[in-house]
Amino acid sequence: MNVLVVNAGSSSLKYQLMDTVTREVFAKGNCERIGLDRGIFGHAVAGEEKVTEDALFPDHRTAIRAVLDHLAGLDIAFDGIGHRIVQGGWYFEDSALVTDEVYAKILEVAPLAPLHNYGEAAIIEYCRERYPELPNVAVFDTSFHMTMPEVASTYALPKDVVDKYHVRKYGAHGTSHRYEWMRAKELLGESCHRLLSCHLGNGASLCAIEDGTCRDTTMGLTPLDGLMMGTRCGSIDPATVCYLQREGGYTYDEVDEMMNKRSGMLAVSGISSDARDIRDGASRGDERCLLAFDMFAYKAMTQAAAMIASMAGVDTITFTAGIGENDWSIRKAFCECFEWLGVRIDNDRNRSAERGDRVISAAGSSVTVMVIPTDEEYMIASDVERLAV
Ligand code: ADP
Repeated sequence: MNVLVVNAGSSSLKYQLMDTVTREVFAKGNCERIGLDRGIFGHAVAGEEKVTEDALFPDHRTAIRAVLDHLAGLDIAFDGIGHRIVQGGWYFEDSALVTDEVYAKILEVAPLAPLHNYGEAAIIEYCRERYPELPNVAVFDTSFHMTMPEVASTYALPKDVVDKYHVRKYGAHGTSHRYEWMRAKELLGESCHRLLSCHLGNGASLCAIEDGTCRDTTMGLTPLDGLMMGTRCGSIDPATVCYLQREGGYTYDEVDEMMNKRSGMLAVSGISSDARDIRDGASRGDERCLLAFDMFAYKAMTQAAAMIASMAGVDTITFTAGIGENDWSIRKAFCECFEWLGVRIDNDRNRSAERGDRVISAAGSSVTVMVIPTDEEYMIASDVERLAV
C-alpha cells in the first residue's frame, strides 16, 4: 500500500510517501516556518537531489495544500494518509481511523498540547476535504503509553483536580518506542522480554517495555518531564515554577518559554543545545560542556534505573534518535553506569561507523545492548495499512 505520512510540529511539517511492503520512499520533503514569514518548502523524489524553494505558510492548512499540490504534480498515487498526532489524551490506546468523532476528540484533548494538536487537526481537516475517498489514520505519540499501570501514570494531586483536568502521565515518543520494541523482538526473539528503550534526540525519553506493554516512561503530562534535553530542563522540583513566579516575577509564559526553550544542555553548557557542540567542547576541556555531558549521562542513568525497577529487570537496551544512534561517547558513559548490573559494551562495536540495526554489547554481557535507528514514518504507514478499511 502507498501511504502519505504527515508529521507536523508546531511550525514545521515533514512528509514521506512510502510503500508499506518494500518501505521504499518515493517522495519526501518538509515545510518550515509555518506561521512565520519567509517559509521554506523542501522536496525530493527518490534518487534525485532535494529542491528547496521560498514559500509562505501562514498556517498548517496552507502547508499541507502546498504538499498535496506538489504530489499531485508528480503523479504518484497513494491509498491512505497517516498523521502523527502529539497528544491523544485519555481517549486513544491505539491509532485510529479518522471519523468525525475521532476528529472531535483530537480537538477536545488539544489543550494538553495546544502548539501541536490544533495544527495537526487542521491538516487532517484539509486532507479529508480534498480527498474524501481516502482513509486518514491518526497515530498518537501517547497511545503506546496508555497501558501503563495506574501506579505509574497517576499524579498525587487532589482527585477532583486530576479528574477535571485529566492530569496524568501521558508520555511521548510512543511511536518510536513501539518501533524499538517491534524491531528488538524481530531481531532477538525469545531472549527479549524486558526492554529499556532510550530515545535520545533533541527531545529525549526512556521507556520500560515488558512483553510489548509500556510499564513506565520518563515524559509526563507533557514532554518537558524526565531527562535533561537540548533546551528542556526535564524533571526538576515542581515548586521551582511557583518560586520563580513568586520571587522572580516571571509570568507563566516566561517560565514556560524558559523551561522549554532556554534550559537543558543549552543552559548548562552556555554554548549550544546540540550534543555535537557539547562533545567538542567537553573534549577541549570546557568545564560547562563537561558538566552538561556528565549531567545528561547521570540523569539518563538514574532515570533508567527507575525504568528498570518498574520491570523488575532488563534484558535488552536499545538506543535511538540523533544522539542515541550517533554519539558513541554518550552510549559508553551510559552503559558504564550499569556495569554493576553486568552490562558490558564492546568498544569497537560501539565506536564503529556501521549504520543500521546493530548489537554493541560484548559477549558475556548480562544485557543485550543495541542501536536500532527508529522509523516512526514506517510505523505510521503500517498503522494506516492495518486500520484503513
Ligand atoms: P529531534 O528529532 O528530537 O529534533 P534528533 O533525533 O534529530 O532530534 O536529534 C538531534 C540531536 O542529535 C542533536 O543534539 C544532535 O547534536 C545529535 N546528533 C545528530 N547527529 C549526531 C552525531 N553524528 N553525533 C552526535 N550527536 C549527533
